[in-house]
Amino acid sequence: MAKVESFTLDHTKVKAPYVRLITQEKGTRGDVISNYDLRLVQPNENAIPTAGLHTIEHLLAGLLRDRLDGVIDCSPFGCRTGFHLITWGEHSTTEVAVALKGALEEIAEQIEWKDVQGTDIYSCGNYRDHSLFSAKEWSKKILDEGISDEPFERNVI
Ligand SMILES: [Zn+2]
Repeated sequence: MAKVESFTLDHTKVKAPYVRLITQEKGTRGDVISNYDLRLVQPNENAIPTAGLHTIEHLLAGLLRDRLDGVIDCSPFGCRTGFHLITWGEHSTTEVAVALKGALEEIAEQIEWKDVQGTDIYSCGNYRDHSLFSAKEWSKKILDEGISDEPFERNVI
């Protein structure tokens, strides 16, 4: 089976919350796609409950696009400690961390339930499993700890 970079990362050595560049891949026409690890909570110590994580997912889909060019997708890790962010082109981890921080601040301070996209039976695959309360409380916790633009050292932006 193909070896996957994410599974070679020593998850005991990282210091969340952080942004890490996982890979950059170049297409046959020279386009670059970047894949980032947005690690919101410490692996094997914490995990965001599914309802809060699900609502954060729906919100980051819009809020990161407001702040960063070329966003293709932002999807939660199965371990519930963070998200993959896939973008066209190259962004520094500092730039991504600033965008993530701004998005989480908006979730914590401004977002109301009516602002959350895709929360009905037609637009979501599990619309009953959302919690804006949880999304806000976890966003506050992540912001209190600060987001680092490096995974192994705390370099909070
Ligand atoms: Zn959904």
